[in-house]
Amino acid sequence: MYEHHTPLDLVRCRPVDGPVVCTRPDRLAVASRWFQDHFPGHVLFAVKANPSAWVIDGLYQSGLRWFDVASLPEIQLISQRCPAATMAFMHPVKAREAIHRAYFEFGVRIFAFDCEEELAKIVEETCYAQDLTLVARLAVSNDGATLPLAGKFGANVFQAPELIRKARSYAQKLGVSFHVGSQCMSPNAYRMAMRDCSNMIVRAAVTVDIVDVGGGFPTIYPGLVPPPMQDYITAICEAFETMMVLENAELWCEPGRALVAEAASVLTRVELRKGNQIHLNDGAFGCLYDAVYAKWPFPVRVHRKSGEASTQTQSYQLFGPTCDSMDTWPYEVELPVDLQEGDVLEFGNLGSYGETMATRFNGFGQVQHARVQDMPFPSVFSESAEAVGVGQRT
Ligand SMILES: *Cc1c(COP(=O)(O)O)cnc(C)c1O
Repeated sequence: MYEHHTPLDLVRCRPVDGPVVCTRPDRLAVASRWFQDHFPGHVLFAVKANPSAWVIDGLYQSGLRWFDVASLPEIQLISQRCPAATMAFMHPVKAREAIHRAYFEFGVRIFAFDCEEELAKIVEETCYAQDLTLVARLAVSNDGATLPLAGKFGANVFQAPELIRKARSYAQKLGVSFHVGSQCMSPNAYRMAMRDCSNMIVRAAVTVDIVDVGGGFPTIYPGLVPPPMQDYITAICEAFETMMVLENAELWCEPGRALVAEAASVLTRVELRKGNQIHLNDGAFGCLYDAVYAKWPFPVRVHRKSGEASTQTQSYQLFGPTCDSMDTWPYEVELPVDLQEGDVLEFGNLGSYGETMATRFNGFGQVQHARVQDMPFPSVFSESAEAVGVGQRT
């Protein structure tokens, strides 16, 4: 781990011959504190967004104690680094061995499911345990999401009532959960999802102890600026008031993207310029999977070893380093007209679903970390960041 004041300082004192993740632990702490201070319930970090040690340790140090885990390796990671953590095994489809070991070796008591078959696996593999918190994942509309997640998981309105009723008989505590889809731009999506859940609970006619509103909380990207974060909390609190749940029911949330996005950016070097084609040393099989495949509009800055790049821009085709033709941006990007070999692009607000997506395909993708202190990209937790001028999609 290197330490520099800014990414430019780093570019000026060492070669960026592979992707460098610039970490901003202060931004991680700000996001973590914001959720802990504003969300009226348990905040579970969705580990898949970024399972790096600096993230897990940073969140733990900032007081976060609950983690949404999806696999045995994630459970092992959290139990090693965070001794007093509570883990919720929220993947709706789990290996039987993983359920068994989660319960008996790692002390996991919270399990999600979205059908009777999975519920049966949990009950059997925990040997009919009496201390289970069972959370039914319900299908809700993903209309407000930039990246819809509906269609794979979730019991629908016809299946949910019977499923919730069945689970009640095995559960010490019973919860319902949903996911409105990632980068949800509308607080109203939570309101509608909670209304749908409440209707399903009424039809099931059982008591519910937990409402878990899932992830989906947004960060800022150019062209994807969400309403104030407080609006999401307000919408959730208002909807919770009207739900048919126990008076002392708990509210949970599982943010991934919003907790870590602002805490890291990724540096990648221009290895070659051929006309308007730019070849980078990171791409679709590295930290920039979401930039390429999800066409996510990350903010971009340019750093040059000596001097400064032009403020005039033109559009470029971008390519990642591997030999696969899929490693190609499907849209053009506005960057300085005099962009040249050796220049370094910084993709911002890429702490979530960045380094965690990197493969080692073709010998690329090994990242280095550098801790920096600047705050150049827009934030959902404060208004002090300047706008970033280049890197817009064209
Ligand atoms: C991915 C995921 C999350 C986190 O989603 P974000 O959109 O990153 O906030 C939360 N809960 C579950 C069950 C998930 O699969």
